[in-house]
Amino acid sequence: MKVAVVYHGDFGRDGFSVLKDRIRPSYESLIESGIVDGVDVQVFGPKPAPLELVERAHTPQHMDNMLQDPYREVAILSAGSVLLAAELVATGAAESAFAYTGTAGHHASRGSCWGFCYFNDVAITILRLREMGLSRFLIIDVDPHFGDGTRDFFGRDPDVFHINFHTGSEIKHDPLMNNYDMGIGFDADDQKFLKELASILELAKDFDFQLCFVIFGHDSHRDDYGGFNLTEKVYPKMTRMILEAIQDKGLVFVLSGGSNVQVAKEAIPGVISMLAGRRSP
Ligand SMILES: [Zn+2]
Repeated sequence: MKVAVVYHGDFGRDGFSVLKDRIRPSYESLIESGIVDGVDVQVFGPKPAPLELVERAHTPQHMDNMLQDPYREVAILSAGSVLLAAELVATGAAESAFAYTGTAGHHASRGSCWGFCYFNDVAITILRLREMGLSRFLIIDVDPHFGDGTRDFFGRDPDVFHINFHTGSEIKHDPLMNNYDMGIGFDADDQKFLKELASILELAKDFDFQLCFVIFGHDSHRDDYGGFNLTEKVYPKMTRMILEAIQDKGLVFVLSGGSNVQVAKEAIPGVISMLAGRRSP
């Protein structure tokens, strides 16, 4: 199979208030597009991430703080979605995957969280992948908000190459720890974003890794709530550039920020269609 789409109806029903309204319409738009053919592109339903894995990623105090949180359950199911997507790719069942979520993950550190995030879905998933024998990962965070939680987990991990796009104005490299902060400015347009993506992918090519995560926030669209000034045309182009750069390595898209229904209806099928190799931007 080319693409595994991991989706659960609870994401649109119980997901974080700002994020949830886009879930169902974008999924319906994906189904209507005909991309999901049950052969090359298939849909899977996630289970909640195992609690022992979540507990291993986060501090006991953070786990305690989350106990009464109304989004706790959907956040654990969101982590389960990323986990299933990555397992399908890591085992070779799928070439790539797109994980829907009801909460985001990249602002969840080991001991705290903010910004619609509760548990760090990618960090939890990497724990499992390392048990499966994978060790080195490329993380490309294109959500316009700084992925501080992911940096808390992997900032000092030389086996994780972390590309972190954000709205600041400074591009900063820490090659020793493989941390690349891509402050491309609040008003960055398609051209600027793709240019900087191309240049950082050039560097990432030299890093030996087994699986790539893309933390995909379409809050980067000019009509959505985050930073950047991107159009819907940029997402398939971005996906193609990433596919070309990582060649035959596994690829997992993780849905992050974004609330604009119209944007999600274009952006998500646009990415999945490119993953399925069926559209040229
Ligand atoms: Zn964001």
